[in-house]
Amino acid sequence: MQPVIERIDQNFDRFCRDLEELSRIPGISAEAVPSEALQQSAEAVRAQMEAVGLENARVLHLDGAHPYVYADWLHAEGRPTLLLYAHHDVQPVGRLERWHSPPFEPEIRDGRMYGRGVVDDKAGLVTHLAAIAAWLEVEGSLPCNVKFIVEGEEETGSDHLEAFLETHASALVADCILLTDTANLDTGLPSITTRLRGLVGADIRVRGLDHPLHSGMWGGPVPDPVMALVRILSRLVDDHGDVAIPGFCDDVRSPNPVERAQLEALPFDEEAFRRDAGLMPTSQIGGDPAASVYEKLWFRPALSINGLISVPVKGAANQLTDQAEARISVRLVPDQDPRRCLDLLVQELKRDPPLGVEVEVIPGAAAIWWSTEAQGPAFDAAARAMERGYGAPCTFIGCGGTIPFVTPFARVLGGVPAVLLGLEDPPCNAHGENESLHLGDWRKGMKAAAYLYRELDSALG
Ligand SMILES: [Zn+2]
Repeated sequence: MQPVIERIDQNFDRFCRDLEELSRIPGISAEAVPSEALQQSAEAVRAQMEAVGLENARVLHLDGAHPYVYADWLHAEGRPTLLLYAHHDVQPVGRLERWHSPPFEPEIRDGRMYGRGVVDDKAGLVTHLAAIAAWLEVEGSLPCNVKFIVEGEEETGSDHLEAFLETHASALVADCILLTDTANLDTGLPSITTRLRGLVGADIRVRGLDHPLHSGMWGGPVPDPVMALVRILSRLVDDHGDVAIPGFCDDVRSPNPVERAQLEALPFDEEAFRRDAGLMPTSQIGGDPAASVYEKLWFRPALSINGLISVPVKGAANQLTDQAEARISVRLVPDQDPRRCLDLLVQELKRDPPLGVEVEVIPGAAAIWWSTEAQGPAFDAAARAMERGYGAPCTFIGCGGTIPFVTPFARVLGGVPAVLLGLEDPPCNAHGENESLHLGDWRKGMKAAAYLYRELDSALG
């Protein structure tokens, strides 16, 4: 292995340039299909795949979707096959004036590369290209077979991924899936993600009147729709901010003893948590005081008001407003049923409107959570590889977010272990302004990938 690992060091600058090249392409998947930038991005990925020695590299077009890219290397006869996944599309840039360098002109400062998409998920993709290049250059072969899918619509919800996987299910058969798009618990601390939260949401519109009124001439007998909305929203949670919708949390599964031990073993620095979150000095940590922060993030549902509107304060007159609206979303955990939770949320929003105001609720999407038992040879092998690559023990973590691409993989390629890893660290600000990649961790991640191919080969072969 040593020459392969050394080759990663020798090649590192070259792959930094490759990452920069990809990161200059503004492939924002929120833009309409077809997008010239995403087409260009897919072509650039295809070319880089081919350059490292992957074969059958091609850009795949699906109706209504941004282009996917596929390549493989299938010469390890009789050996296991890994299915690698990453995505080449990116999020919109947000507030341009907040970026310290232009989002699509990647720049290295203090050991981090800044730019839109550098860590989410172009580094995830180039990590494997670097590891594959090192193996092929040094050994002329990979320890196992590799199939590599790079999606073009992850940031808009992977709408066509399941259909894509189903169409190509027989060609994509693999012994293990490696999804490289998640986070490490901390910089330098390699992590495998074993659970994700699901999501349901709804919009509510409250109307009390058909036009605004003078609050002096009418206030008192005439109900205030804004207050009605606030009262409806406030009954969704208890004093800690935990979901209080009747029946909603019935199926929440507590951590089992193994999970509990894993949670308790994780380092937690409250000061760093408060700082990273940007909490005000007087703000308390929310949720059930008996649960740890990790348990709250990974094993408990969480409700938030994502949008709220009545009348802007600036310029507001002394009046009774006629209507108010809010958007609510709730993160779900095993074993909550998203359809049932959505129904309960809608019911609770409609229940007994204060002073009989008119309530309209528009249900949103319902996405399922995901979790895996991180046990067995594939996870042991992955943990060993991560440990060797990073030179630090591997942790098994959850992720409070919702990643729509994981469930289709689990469903279509059912049963094979799905190992989720990635290059994000707490300061990386993925999806936000000044997104960045820790270059030291990236180099370690490439080495971990190189070890992974060998470790998984011997574990699964
Ligand atoms: Zn991503």
